[in-house]
Amino acid sequence: MNAFYPHMLQPLDLGFTTLRNRVLMGSMHTGLEDRFYHIDKLASYFAERARGGVGIIVTGGYSPNRRGELLPLGSRMDNKVTAMLHRHVTGKVHNEGGKIVLQLLHAGRYGYTPYSVSPSGIKSPITPFKPWKMSGKQVENTIADFARAAELAKLAGYDGVEIMGSEGYLLNQFLCARTNKRTDKWGGSAENRTRFPVEVVRQVRAAVGREFIIIYRMSLMDLVEDGQSWDEVEMLAKGVEAAGANIINTGIGWHEARIPTIVTSVPRGAFAFSTAKLKQVVSIPVCASNRINTPDLAEQIIASGQADMVSLARPMLADPFFVAKAEAGKADEINTCIACNQACLDHTFSLKRASCLVNPRACHETELRYLPTQSKKKVAVVGAGPAGLAAATVAAERGHEVTLFEADSKIGGQFNIAKQIPGKEDFNETLRYFDRMLDKLHVKVRLNHRAGTDDLIGFDDVIVATGIAPRKPGIPGVDHPKVLSYLDVLRDKKPVGKSVAVIGAGGIGFDVSEYLTHAHSENELQQWYKEWGVDTQLQHRAALVPPQVAPSPRQVFLLQRKESAVGKNLGRTSGWVHRAQLNKKAVEMIAGVSYDRIDDQGLHITVKGKSRLLPVDNVIICAGQEPQRALADQLAGSGVRVHVIGGADVAAELDAKRAIKQGSEVAAQL
Ligand code: FAD
Ligand code: NAP
Ligand code: SF4
Repeated sequence: MNAFYPHMLQPLDLGFTTLRNRVLMGSMHTGLEDRFYHIDKLASYFAERARGGVGIIVTGGYSPNRRGELLPLGSRMDNKVTAMLHRHVTGKVHNEGGKIVLQLLHAGRYGYTPYSVSPSGIKSPITPFKPWKMSGKQVENTIADFARAAELAKLAGYDGVEIMGSEGYLLNQFLCARTNKRTDKWGGSAENRTRFPVEVVRQVRAAVGREFIIIYRMSLMDLVEDGQSWDEVEMLAKGVEAAGANIINTGIGWHEARIPTIVTSVPRGAFAFSTAKLKQVVSIPVCASNRINTPDLAEQIIASGQADMVSLARPMLADPFFVAKAEAGKADEINTCIACNQACLDHTFSLKRASCLVNPRACHETELRYLPTQSKKKVAVVGAGPAGLAAATVAAERGHEVTLFEADSKIGGQFNIAKQIPGKEDFNETLRYFDRMLDKLHVKVRLNHRAGTDDLIGFDDVIVATGIAPRKPGIPGVDHPKVLSYLDVLRDKKPVGKSVAVIGAGGIGFDVSEYLTHAHSENELQQWYKEWGVDTQLQHRAALVPPQVAPSPRQVFLLQRKESAVGKNLGRTSGWVHRAQLNKKAVEMIAGVSYDRIDDQGLHITVKGKSRLLPVDNVIICAGQEPQRALADQLAGSGVRVHVIGGADVAAELDAKRAIKQGSEVAAQL
């Protein structure tokens, strides 16, 4: 029994096979699944996670037939050639002592194809194509295709399959009156709507025999109108157990749901209460999911009986050695997923290969490698923001002698500001991780030290990561006492009045507006459920109840010069949450603004040719940033080998994803 996480690391006996622990790596579509020539990259990505100790890996989704593809020519498991190719993946994982199952995902109406199908011909709000209504024969054939795909997965060497029944994909579409208006034996009553997923499990079991893992991933809370009631969820769970599933994995919310389920602002472990309830009605293991990102939380969920297993997906991108580190009592060395979605889901939805903001090696294991150096160098890194921290730790990991200079009294740069935002508390974890790594890798850290050129004499390489300075726009009256910068508000906690205009609606303008409109509560978790309308009693269909929003403590105007919709450029999978959050707090968002002047009366603006006065107590400037290049400029021509990274390099469109990636890449090449 492990001394640190005895429940999470306890083996799980499935009768014919045993998982080495209770941690399941949840399915993620990385973009490596779709093309055969990526198979080695895919195999290396999974092999690293298997080496890191995870109990069982679930691959990204593979459709059992062409109609179920997520994209044209998307990943499928429907022929023997593909199955044999996958032997490379399963072989590499098994060599590392791991287990891996193939996820069978039929996209249904979530397919971005003109040939997508669904129980009824009802278009989804998030895809451009109206699906074709499946005929009775097509339904039967699709079930047979699932069974055939599972057989092929077995041929490919997989330890099992996960049948994707949540998140609003085809099986979920059969389950809900929202998308299933059929009047034949596959629609109508709850029994009829449950028939398709149960039949898929039954025929898959018949095809693969007894000794092959079948995980069924079911939606516990659909969070969309006309989703399943809790009674229906229970009926389905009993049905899939009887049909031969070994494990029930869980999912929360359809992709089209307007309640966030995985972004940073969702409280950790927010949905484990639903797994706890499901566990009471089935005897097979139940796996909790969504926003579980630390071993302590995973241990608590299993130890308290809320679930038998935990599904960690994005945390496995952030740190492939999550389990091994926990097992060795080194949880403080885990690089924690901060649920930003910036390099994983945002990439996937933009048809780019997934990676991870805090770990740019994710899905690039064969390309970005931190190999031990053959010629040890003395390296100076100036600035301990995300860029400098990544550069310093990767260089030290490779065996270089690294000194890190930081003008502030603590490491972190702008992450110290970002973590002040309600819902971004997890950014603290990144700083904890880097702090620990600097110590472990013996980086000489010189805090409270603003490095000048004299400090940098004698180093072989100097990495300048001095970051940015906030931009001060040339608006008349910008020096008026009521004007504050975002640093005044977030870092220096200067008092802010009851009415506020925020100039600049980029990521920081949104964050500042969120900070100023947040109504603090003694029980933030309960407040979150209330604000988003989540029924924790599971008495209402799809777990939806009317939201109860705590009023904002102040009135906020959020402004930009561009004519485009405010917040349009925020993260692809998280932007809507920020916009919805501010709408709930009645923030007035105004586009196409000209700033005329700031005076005692407030902020004078012109919108569509009309003058308007915003009679605000404070004007907060969030108008972007300029690079801090003074040191880099001074070093130019000095003969020192200089690398400029992060905000110091280019401030426009800078985010921590680019800062950390650039720092890691520079250090990987020293
Ligand atoms: P910085 O973080 O600016 O760090 C530069 C460091 O260099 C500072 O610590 C500074 O003190 C130090 N320094 C400067 N000159 C010297 C010198 N001469 N000697 C020694 N030290 C020096 N990004 C995201 O990707 N996602 C988010 O959700 C997100 N949210 C944010 C929210 C807020 C409120 C803010 C302010 C920023 C947010 N960001 C976010 C942006 C992100 O924090 C930055 O892109 C990132 O910090 C840039 O990293 P950097 O290392 O280049 O610079
Ligand atoms: P930003 O996203 O570039 O936004 C700057 C805002 O200021 C824009 O709305 C811009 O809009 C406005 N602006 C620019 N110049 C101006 C001027 N001279 N006068 C008045 N307004 C001006 O930058 P940011 O908000 O400072 O954020 C910095 C970086 O941190 C961003 O690149 C972002 O990616 C990152 N970040 C990310 C998140 C996240 O959640 N992912 C959160 C916070 C920050 P107009 O020009 O239309 O007025
Ligand atoms: Fe987690 Fe962000 Fe990395 Fe995605 S990009 S795995 S959400 S830290």
